[in-house]
Amino acid sequence: MRVKAIRIHQNGGPDQMHLEEVELGAPGEGEVTLRNKACGVNFIDTYHRTGLYPVSLPSGLGLEASAVVEAVGPGVTDLKAGDRVAYSSAPVGAYAEARNYPAARLIKIPDAIDDKTAAAMMLQGMTAEYLIRRTYPVQKGDIVLLHAAAGGVGQIATQWLHHLGAIIIGTAGSAEKLKIASDLGCQHVINYRDPDWVAQVKAASGGQGVHVVYDGVGKDTFMPSLDCLRPRGYMVTYGNASGPVAPIEPLILSQKGSLFLTRPTLMAYTSSRADLELSANAVIDVISRGAVKINVNHTYALKDAAQAHRDLEGRKTTGSLVLIP
Ligand code: NDP
Repeated sequence: MRVKAIRIHQNGGPDQMHLEEVELGAPGEGEVTLRNKACGVNFIDTYHRTGLYPVSLPSGLGLEASAVVEAVGPGVTDLKAGDRVAYSSAPVGAYAEARNYPAARLIKIPDAIDDKTAAAMMLQGMTAEYLIRRTYPVQKGDIVLLHAAAGGVGQIATQWLHHLGAIIIGTAGSAEKLKIASDLGCQHVINYRDPDWVAQVKAASGGQGVHVVYDGVGKDTFMPSLDCLRPRGYMVTYGNASGPVAPIEPLILSQKGSLFLTRPTLMAYTSSRADLELSANAVIDVISRGAVKINVNHTYALKDAAQAHRDLEGRKTTGSLVLIP
C-alpha cells in the first residue's frame, strides 16, 4: 500500500522535510504494521534532520508515536490487529501515516490514556524516568537544578521531581515559561537569560550548591552549570538544544569539587526488554495516578511537521508537540 510520510533527502533546515508517498510492504519477521494515531515531536528529531546525529539518507524522521496494530508479521505472537500501542525508539520514521516496526519495542497502552498523551509520553516520559530515578536517583529533599523546565522533558521531570519530594530550581527563557515551571512544582524559577543566573541558583540552594544538574540545553549552560553544583555533585548533560557541549578537561571536575559527569542516552537505559518495560510502566503508573500530566500543548497536521520543527527550535513551544497523520 502507499502511505504518506515525512522524508529528508539531505541534512539541513526544516525546508528539507517533504511529505511524500512511500510504498509500505508486508511486515517482516518480528514486525507489525502500525497505523499511527499521533506522532511525538522531539528535539532529537531536529538533530537527525540537521545531521548532528547522523542517519543514512534518504530517511524518514521521528522516533515515537501511538498507533494501532494493523497486521502482524511472522513470529509475532503477543500482539494482534486492533491492539493500541506506543513506541519511542529507532528505526526513525514515525512521522508517517503507517509503517512497519519491531514488535519487541512496542508497549501496550491502557484504555484510559488517549492517543496524543500516549504519543508524547514515551520518549520524554522515559527520559525523565531514567534521569531522575536511575542516572542520579533523586531523594526527598535533594536540591535539583533542572534546565528548560517548561519544555517537553522539563514539564514531565518537574512534576515527577515534585512527586518525589525534591526541591526544584527550574530555569526557562521567558516569564511565561517560568510561570508554567512554577505552577508545575518548581520552588524556585530563574530566567537563564539573566547574566547572573548562576548566582541566583547558588542563592536558591542556600549557598551550598545543588546535588544534581539536569541539562538538556548543552552548549550555553554546561560550563556555568558546573558552578551551581556542591562538592561531589552530579552533572547530567543529556541534550544539545543550544548546540553540542565543547570538549572539556577532566581536571575541571576536580577543580570544581570532585564532580561526577555523565552524558546518558535513553537507548542505553531502555535497550533490553526488561528496562523498556520498567521505564514505560513507571511512566504509565505516574500518569495513571495523576502525579504527572503530559501537557500536549501543540498539535500539527503531519504535513506541517516542518513548522513544528521551526517552533521547537525557535523556543516558541512549551510542553509536548504531536503530529496527527
Ligand atoms: P524542549 O521542549 O525542552 O525544547 C528545548 C528547550 O530548550 C526550548 O524550549 C528552550 O526553552 C530551551 N533552549 C535553550 N536554549 C535554546 C536554544 N538555543 N535553541 C533552542 N532551544 C533552547 O525539547 P525536548 O523536551 O524534546 O528535549 C529537551 C532536551 O532533552 C533536548 O536537548 C533533547 O535532545 C534532550 N533529550 C535527551 C535524551 C537523552 O536520552 N539523552 C532523550 C530525550 C531528550 P527556553 O525557551 O525556556 O530556554
